[in-house]
Amino acid sequence: MLTNLQARDVATVLHPYSNLATLPRQGSLILERGEGVFVYDVDGKPYLEGMAGLWCNALGHGREELVEVAAEQMRKLPFAHLFTGKSHDPAIALAEKLKELSPMPAAKVFFCNSGSEANDTQVKLVWYVNNALGRPAKKKIISRIKGYHGVTVASASLTGLPNNHIDFDLPIAGVRHAACPHHYRFGRPDESEEEFATRLAAELDAQIEAEGPETVAAFIAEPVMGAGGVIVPPETYYPKIQAVLEKHDVILIADEVITGFGRLGEWFGSTAMKMKPDTVSIAKALSSSYVPIAGVIIPDWIDDALSCQSEKIGVFGHGFTYSGHPVAAAVALRTLEIYERENVLGHVNGLIPQFQRRLKALGGHPLVGEARGVGLVGAVEAVADKATRRGFDPKAGVAAKIVAFAQEEGLIVRAIGDAVAICPPLVITAAELDLLFDRLETALDRADHWAGA
Ligand code: PLP
Repeated sequence: MLTNLQARDVATVLHPYSNLATLPRQGSLILERGEGVFVYDVDGKPYLEGMAGLWCNALGHGREELVEVAAEQMRKLPFAHLFTGKSHDPAIALAEKLKELSPMPAAKVFFCNSGSEANDTQVKLVWYVNNALGRPAKKKIISRIKGYHGVTVASASLTGLPNNHIDFDLPIAGVRHAACPHHYRFGRPDESEEEFATRLAAELDAQIEAEGPETVAAFIAEPVMGAGGVIVPPETYYPKIQAVLEKHDVILIADEVITGFGRLGEWFGSTAMKMKPDTVSIAKALSSSYVPIAGVIIPDWIDDALSCQSEKIGVFGHGFTYSGHPVAAAVALRTLEIYERENVLGHVNGLIPQFQRRLKALGGHPLVGEARGVGLVGAVEAVADKATRRGFDPKAGVAAKIVAFAQEEGLIVRAIGDAVAICPPLVITAAELDLLFDRLETALDRADHWAGA
């Protein structure tokens, strides 16, 4: 039986990424407020936020300082844009700070509002820049099966998950998908992680050769796949992939929408995963999710090509009304200041051993086939048979059941296929982290009992 608020919700709100057939019967968990790493529903029940919202609420809830900086900026100049001949201090200061933090030498930052917009911008930049450089055939972009890059037409095309393509007439032309670097699922029997990485690099090489290297412009990858199920590639994967890309003059776009700003214990996940990106997409923790803001960090040679082309054709015809919105930029800049002032990266690095120890220990649970993760992000994958790695019938909805039990226990985590993802706020304490894993273990026990019943 739905509450009044739940009934109004399902009657009026078209929910993203939801089963629109079952949601009207089940209703939503309706949240009212947050404090630190806890959120509270309308009845006042607290939940430990094990997903930092949607991988984004790095600093937790109730940061008055961010509220103040937003209010101050709204009083002073609530809106100004960056189109022809206009700019403002919050965007300038934020771009300067991001250049300083960038994992590669950076020239400029293009601002937008979401990770999807950032990756759409990446696609358009690839096309535009290759036109500008006089190689109009070099336009294809390779992403990966299970990669997640957003839901707009171009970014959903890059995303390598069937739900984002089926019935949407996607992907668009010129997007290709390469293999997913998940050793547990796609490694051959007796193939080491190293051999698996070597094979994937060889397959990518063959794929680029088959397409024609003169037609392939870019490869886009999350340092660690998030929404595809928290997939951590083998240690040597990126160096091997990078060598192939360099051989064919294919640029590497790092989608750091989840991994940017400390998730893997470095400012950027690329550094942690030994990637050398040419450009970077950022969002989510850039503002600790307090306001929507995202961006693309570009190097000199792309900036030069953009300027040259503008000289020829008059204008760089891309941008959003809210590109670099002053309130969002001010909040993002303050967020970065807080990360530095509170040494959030140091805190994360202090927590990683405990997080990984508790996570990997779940690999021994009867329901768990693989417990995987790096930094402060992880997942446990439920299997029907540990020895053969056989999964459950998808209709059983085992991960959804684990998530539902966790919610009853006061923990929010997320189901992705048969996996359950964990991505707590970066500021979680050691005691709260233990509570998270205690509650997750209880949920797994209950799900195991349910599955066996
Ligand atoms: N890229 C990655 C790696 C993401 O995880 C996401 C969202 O989760 C996106 C892009 C899309 O971002 P948004 O939902 O802000 O459009």
